[in-house]
Amino acid sequence: MIGRNRRGFLGLAGAGLGAAWASSAWAAGDTAPDQVVFNARVYTVDPAMPKAQAFAVRGGRFIAVGTNEEVRGLAGPRTQLFDAKGMTVVPGFIDCHNHAGGDVLLYEVLVGNPFEVEFVTIGSIVGKLRAKAQALPADTWVEGFFYDDTKVKDGRLITAADLDKVSTTQPVAVHHRGGHTSFYNSRALAMGGITRDTPNPPGGTFDRDPTGALNGRVTDRARAPIDRAGLRQRFTPEQEAQRSREGLAHISKQFVRFGLTSVHHEGGDLAGLQAIRARGDLRHRVSYEAQGPELEAMIRAGLKTGFGDEWIKLGATSEHTVDGSFSERTMALSHPYAGVSPPYYGNLTETQADLDAWIERVHRAGIDVNCHANGDVAIARVLNSVERAQKLFPRPEARPKITHCTIVDDGLIARIKAANITPACFTSYTYYNTDKFHFYGAEMMEHAMAFRSFLDAGVPVAAGSDFSPGPFAPLMGIQGMVTRTGWNDETWGASQRVSVDEALRINTLNGAHASHEEDIKGSITAGKLADYVILADDLHTVDPKKIKDIQIVRTVTGGTTMYQA
Ligand SMILES: [Zn+2]
Repeated sequence: MIGRNRRGFLGLAGAGLGAAWASSAWAAGDTAPDQVVFNARVYTVDPAMPKAQAFAVRGGRFIAVGTNEEVRGLAGPRTQLFDAKGMTVVPGFIDCHNHAGGDVLLYEVLVGNPFEVEFVTIGSIVGKLRAKAQALPADTWVEGFFYDDTKVKDGRLITAADLDKVSTTQPVAVHHRGGHTSFYNSRALAMGGITRDTPNPPGGTFDRDPTGALNGRVTDRARAPIDRAGLRQRFTPEQEAQRSREGLAHISKQFVRFGLTSVHHEGGDLAGLQAIRARGDLRHRVSYEAQGPELEAMIRAGLKTGFGDEWIKLGATSEHTVDGSFSERTMALSHPYAGVSPPYYGNLTETQADLDAWIERVHRAGIDVNCHANGDVAIARVLNSVERAQKLFPRPEARPKITHCTIVDDGLIARIKAANITPACFTSYTYYNTDKFHFYGAEMMEHAMAFRSFLDAGVPVAAGSDFSPGPFAPLMGIQGMVTRTGWNDETWGASQRVSVDEALRINTLNGAHASHEEDIKGSITAGKLADYVILADDLHTVDPKKIKDIQIVRTVTGGTTMYQA
C-alpha cells in the first residue's frame, strides 16, 4: 500500500514533476490506479495547483493529479477510465454544522420543504396535522416540523386559533425549522399551565396578541413546561433504534445527493452511525460532535477531539447554546431590535459564569469546545470564556468553534483570529432567508455572515448549514455567498460577497481544517482521501444566480460512487 514516504513523494505528482515517475512505476502490475478521471475541469482547492484536467484514485485516495497525458499514462488494464467530457470536478463539500435528523424527514409530518424554497399555506399545515391527529390517541402530541414563518402564502404567523382547528382535545405544536420557536394550540398551552397572566421566564417568551391574549408563539426556553406535558407516541427501544438507523441511512443518501461528503453531526445516535456504516449505508464522513451523556463519557474515558477514523471521528462538542436564533429573531444583540417594544435585546440562554465553567472543563479534557452564538453579545461571551480557559490552561493545538457566529465587528473578528477559533457561519441563509433580513436592516446585514471580513482577517471560516434551520445544499450556499442575493431577488450584505473560489474553499478545505483534517481531505491533492463531486456545469462560468441549479452528476466518497444522477 501507499507508505508514508511514497505518499509524500506522490504529493509532488500534483506539481507535474512526479507524474513521469508515477507513469513508469504505477502503470505496471497491480499498483495501477483503480480509477482515472480525465477530460475534466478540476478545481482542486489546492493552492499548489488550483486547476487540473485529470486525477487518479487508488485505495480510496487520490494518487496523482495533473494533465490528461500525465494521469492517463498511469492507467493499467484494470483501471476504470472515466471521460468527464469537460464537466467540472470539485472536492466533496463539507458541512460543519448539521442536525442530521433523518428520522424526522422519514417519519414525521413535514409542514414545509426541508431542501428548497417553497411556499405553503396555513390551510395545508392544518390539513396535514388534522390527518395525523386522527391517527393518534387522545392526549398525544400532534407535531409538525419544518415550518418557516416567511414561507407561508398567507403572509402571517400561524396562531393558536389555527391549530385549534387541528384538535381541541390533543396538544398540537408546529415547530419552526429554526428550532427556537414553536406554535401551540390552546390545549397544549393549557396542559403546560400557561395562561395570559404567566410571566415570561428567563431566556424565553410567551407571545401575545394586542389584547394581551396568548397567540400560541413561544420562544426558546419558555417552551420547556409545555413540551414536558402530554404524551408522545411510544416506541420500544428496539423500534427507536431502528427508526434512528433508518433515519441516518436516509439522510446520508440526501447528503450525497447534494454533494456533501463530510458532515459535522450535532450529537445523535453514534451507535446507529456505526451500524449503518457496518451495513454499507454510510455514504458520507462524520465528524461527531458529542453532547450530554456522550460528551460526559468522552471526558470520563479520556477520548479527545480526533479520536476515531476517516469515516467516523469525534470532533468538537455539539453546539453549546449561548443565545437565541438569527432567523427567528431571538439572538442576543447589543442594540435593541428595531420596531419591537418594549425594547428587546434577544435571549441570552447562558450566564458568563456557567459558560466559563463549561468551557474550562471541556477544554481541559482535550476536547474542542463549540458554542452556538449568533448575536455580538453572545459571541463576546464565548470569547471571554475561551480566552480565560486558554490563559489558565494553554492548549495551543485547540481549534474552538463558534457555530453561526453571525453578527461580528472588527474587534470581535480580531479576538476570534487570536483565539484560533473557527466560525461555522450560515451559508444557505444568504439565499434562503433573505426574506427575514429586513427585520435587521441594511447596516446590520453588512456585519452578518461576514465571510469577506473573516477571510480578509485570515480566519479559516467554514460552512455551517445548520440543517434543519437551513437547507444544506452547498451549491445554494455558494450562490448566496457569491451574490448575497436571495430567492426573492433582494441583496443583503453585499460587502460580504466572496468569489466562487473562496466560497468553494470555505465549503471544502476550511471545513476540513475545522476538524483538524486539512491534511487528509478538503482538496483534490495526491495523498488525500478521494472525496469529490462531478458537476454538469462550471460554477465559475454559469450565471451566478444559477449556481444552485447546477446538476450534481456524481458524488464520490473515498473513491466509491455514493450518488449518481
Ligand atoms: Zn444548530
